[in-house]
Amino acid sequence: MSDTQDVLEEERSDFIRDIVRSDLADGRVKSVVTRFPPEPNGYLHIGHAKSIFLNFSIAQEFEGRCNLRFDDTNPTREEQEYIESIQRDVRWLGFDWSEYLYYASDYFEQLYEWAEHLIREGKAYVDDLSAEEIRAHRGTLTEPGRDSPYRDRPVDENLDLFRRMRAGEFKEGERVLRAKIDMASGNINLRDPVLYRILHAAHPRTGDKWCIYPTYDFAHGQSDAIEGVTHSLCTLEFADHRPLYDWFIENLPVPSQPHQYEFSRLNLSHTVLSKRRLIQLVTEGHVAGWDDPRMPTISGLRRRGFPPAAIRDFVARVGITKSDNVVEMALLEHCARELLNKSAERRMAVLRPLKVVIENYPEGEAEELQAINNPEDRSAGSRSLPFSRELYIERDDFMEDPPKKFFRLAPGREVRLRYAYFLTCREAIKNEAGEVVELRCTYDPETKGGNAPDGRKVKATIHWVSSEHALKAEVRLYNHLFRDVEPDIGDGLAAALNKDSLEVLQDCRLEPGLAEAALGTPVQFERQGYFALDPDSSADGLVFNRTVALRDSWAKVQAKTGAKP
Ligand code: ATP
Ligand code: MG
Repeated sequence: MSDTQDVLEEERSDFIRDIVRSDLADGRVKSVVTRFPPEPNGYLHIGHAKSIFLNFSIAQEFEGRCNLRFDDTNPTREEQEYIESIQRDVRWLGFDWSEYLYYASDYFEQLYEWAEHLIREGKAYVDDLSAEEIRAHRGTLTEPGRDSPYRDRPVDENLDLFRRMRAGEFKEGERVLRAKIDMASGNINLRDPVLYRILHAAHPRTGDKWCIYPTYDFAHGQSDAIEGVTHSLCTLEFADHRPLYDWFIENLPVPSQPHQYEFSRLNLSHTVLSKRRLIQLVTEGHVAGWDDPRMPTISGLRRRGFPPAAIRDFVARVGITKSDNVVEMALLEHCARELLNKSAERRMAVLRPLKVVIENYPEGEAEELQAINNPEDRSAGSRSLPFSRELYIERDDFMEDPPKKFFRLAPGREVRLRYAYFLTCREAIKNEAGEVVELRCTYDPETKGGNAPDGRKVKATIHWVSSEHALKAEVRLYNHLFRDVEPDIGDGLAAALNKDSLEVLQDCRLEPGLAEAALGTPVQFERQGYFALDPDSSADGLVFNRTVALRDSWAKVQAKTGAKP
């Protein structure tokens, strides 16, 4: 990826694009229409980003369009809050459905008419069996199902009962409408699937108008047909539903003939991508909310500081296949690092401060030193940093008794202060507990800018901030939310969580320029990683999230396994 070119402009190739290309070439399809069909029962996660990227980028590449359609057929789990968050997240990811925003609930009347059409054709019936009895009649993978005793109800009776279901005469579970297909089919989805169930629940959009609701299977393909969707792309678990999808399209007077194609879903290491699990994380209080920066949700990744282009790059690299696998979280982090290395401005921040007093620097004085904002992008210019007698350096950058390979500060040792001077440690001051609390040092005024006129070298450069000018801040460091690569939730979520997924540092010191940090503009804290301002920040306290550390564990994974990005 170059600086200005996004993955959106790259030519891509996969089996779905091959299908689209040939459908256009042989005229089966005049113009490509895809859709992203979220159920508004939770926030979007990185798995959805894969589907969003696929649907919208195909539409863009082949000059068609992509609809955003809320698959809102289950009023008991759906909420307006989710509808809003989904739109915000799709936009933030960089995609635009323009005026093509739809709701399956807008088709309820049409779907109802088509259900009556099936009844009139003798292809659907009202069943009085309970859910449990229906299950018992369904059979298994090896045994055929058994017909319901209500299967041969006359058309008129079915129509009457279905209308009364709609009118609210029956209780939940008393009756359902089923398609009359084949109770002996090898595909269980074709064993007279349920089309409508009674739910006395208000819907976020249709209110109390309906007390019967179509099932996913009955709504999805018909919604595609209404919208003129040509390629209905979904994940592999729906492959077994495709014959049913096709059955509806063949047996109903729908206005167009969509086709369903399946691809593998995204699985990500060290996390879960099931909405049910994500809801549980939120409601059981394991995380601070849907946008907790440890969550694999789009809102969590945004708050954590992942740029949308990094997420696009990630899902593009994962690609589209038909085989299931687990993608390393390290790849997502690698994508962020690669992008941020080019775009993020550098700043100095000391996360675990150790005080340094420069004994030969005049008291009460300060000077401004020039620092480069981004060595990868000269156009980002430079800024000035205040330097004075008292500084903070990183606690880890000093060792009283350094081992062989430790080249940073130690008693008697000289190092470079980034963009400033050479500094020599003269003495470590300790408290009663024997901990080092302050370093007494001297600096060499001749080394301003970081080089010695006599040509002498130092082996390390460390970062620092001037103590009187520094801003105090809280910094939140994140690690994997789950302990294992593929979390086993068998014993409940709590047991599978990584106890060290969040570390909060309360006493960090930042260069003063960070007072101007903005939400959504990540920065690199030199030598540490990429960080983003958190919305919890206020006038009297800045809070930063670590997006990713500088160290690239993906490079290690690659070296070890030969994995390709
Ligand atoms: P979950 O299983 O987490 O509840 P879902 O599939 O029920 O997710 P929907 O809101 O129905 O969630 O998903 C909208 C679209 O996103 C669907 O087309 C679905 O196939 C796709 N999608 C969901 N999860 C993934 C994933 N992990 N990888 C790729 N696509 C996904
Ligand atoms: Mg779904």
